[in-house]
Amino acid sequence: MDHPNAIPHEIHDPAILARAREVLDACATPAQMAQAVVDAVERNASWRGRQCVNLLAPEAPTSPTVRALLAAEVGTRAAEGHIGPVNRWFAGTRHIDEIESLCVELLKTSLRARYAEHRLVASMIGNMAVYTALAQPGDVIMSAAQPVGGHSSNRVDGPAGVRGLAVVDIPFDPVELEVDLDAFRRLAPLVRPRLVTLGFSMTLFPYPVREMRAVVEEWGGRVFFDGAHQLGLIAGGQFQDPLAEGAAVLTGSAGKTFSGPQSGIMAWNDPALTEALGQAVFPVLAATHQVNRVAALAVSAAEMIAFGRDYMAAIVANAQALGAALHRRGIPVLGASKGYTRTHQVILDVRALGGGLDAATRLARANIITNKNLIPADRPEDWDRPGGLRLGTIEVTRLGMGPAEMDAIADFIARVLVEGADPDGLGGAVTDFRTPFQTLYYTFDHPTPPERPVPVPGGAAHARTASAG
Ligand SMILES: *Cc1c(COP(=O)(O)O)cnc(C)c1O
Repeated sequence: MDHPNAIPHEIHDPAILARAREVLDACATPAQMAQAVVDAVERNASWRGRQCVNLLAPEAPTSPTVRALLAAEVGTRAAEGHIGPVNRWFAGTRHIDEIESLCVELLKTSLRARYAEHRLVASMIGNMAVYTALAQPGDVIMSAAQPVGGHSSNRVDGPAGVRGLAVVDIPFDPVELEVDLDAFRRLAPLVRPRLVTLGFSMTLFPYPVREMRAVVEEWGGRVFFDGAHQLGLIAGGQFQDPLAEGAAVLTGSAGKTFSGPQSGIMAWNDPALTEALGQAVFPVLAATHQVNRVAALAVSAAEMIAFGRDYMAAIVANAQALGAALHRRGIPVLGASKGYTRTHQVILDVRALGGGLDAATRLARANIITNKNLIPADRPEDWDRPGGLRLGTIEVTRLGMGPAEMDAIADFIARVLVEGADPDGLGGAVTDFRTPFQTLYYTFDHPTPPERPVPVPGGAAHARTASAG
C-alpha cells in the first residue's frame, strides 16, 4: 500500500509511519504530541484490555502489583553488574541489592533450581547468553525448524546464527508432534552437536530430555531447554521439569505462561556453568537491567510459588477443553488423537478455512485475538501466509473463565471460520461475553476464581452470573 507521504526502504509499514507523521504534523505543541501517544495507549487498553477475548499464546495479563511496580521509582536507578557493593559500578545500591537478591532467590524457589539469572531484558538475550557461554563460533548445534515449532532465536536467522553456530534440524515427527527419537539417535552422532536446543514456540507435548541427553553426553554435548512458552507450566509443576530431567540450562520468557513482566530468565544447577553464564550476562549482554522490572519479576515469581499449581492446571484444562470444543465444531485441531495439548496452546489447521492470515484477521474483526502460525504441513517460506492458527488460554484463565466459557469461545470461532458469519457483526456479542470478566485471579488480592457451574459435557455454553468484581 503506497502512501503519498511514505519514505522508501523503511523496515516498518511505510503507510502507518506516514500516518503517524500526519498526526504529529497536526499537533500545535509537543504536549499535544505526547497526548497522542497517551491516547493510543488508552485506545488499546479499552479494546484489547476490556473488550477482546485475547487468545495470543505468548501474552499474559500481569497482576495489579506487578503492573504497579513497572512504574516504580527504582526504575530510574542505575545498577550494573553483579549484586553486592564490590561488583557494582555505582554506589547507593543497598536497597537495589535487596530487591535483586529477593528476585534471584524467588526465581530459584519457583523453578526448583540452584542458580537463577534475573537481568535478561528478553528471553532472546537469555538464549544469546547461553550460546555465548556454552558454545564457540563454528560449533554445531541442533534445534527444531520453524514449521514444527522452532524459534528464530535458536536458528541461523537469530542469536545462534549471529554467534556463528551451524544449525542442524532436530528430526521431528509431524504426525505425533514429538521429537523423532530414533532419527535423532542416528543423526546426532554424525554431527556431534555441542548443544541440543529444545526451543519451541508452538508446543503441545513434552520432549524426551533424558533420552536426548544420554545421546549427546557421549561427546560432552549438552541439552539446552528454551522454555520461553512453558516457563510458568514448569514452575507450576504442570509440564516436564527440564532441569530435573537433565537439561544443563533453562531459559524462559517471564511474560508468557509465567505471567510476569515481559523479559527473560535463566536457571541451571551445575556450579561449573555459573561463571560462564554470569559473565555472558554481564559485562557481555546487559548493563543497566531495569530494576523496576526485576522487582515486578520477583513478585510474579512469588505469585507462581503461591498459585502456580492451580493457575497452570486451569490453563491446561482450558486448552484441552477449547481444543475439544473446536474439534466438535468441525475445525481440524492438531494432536486431536492425543488429547489436543499438554500446554496452554491449541493449534488449528485452517488451510481449508482460508489460511492462517485470513483466519486471524477475520477473528480480530470479531474481537477475538489469535495469531497465524506455521504448522508441520507448511514450508519455512510460508511464513507470511501459513496454514495454521495458534490459540492460548493464559489470559482467559486468569480472568476466571473455565470449560463452559471455552465452549462459548469455540462457538464464536466456528461461527466466523466455519459458518462464514460476518465478523464485524459478531464483535458486539464477543464484547458482551467478555465484559463480565474483568478481575484477574491467581493474585494475592484475588487468589481463586469464583465457583462456576459444572459444564454439561458436549452441551451448549451457558452464561455465567456474578463473575466480575
Ligand atoms: C517467545 C520465544 C522466545 C523469545 O522470548 P522473548 O522473551 O520474547 O525475547 C525465545 N524462544 C522461544 C521458543 C520463544 O517462543
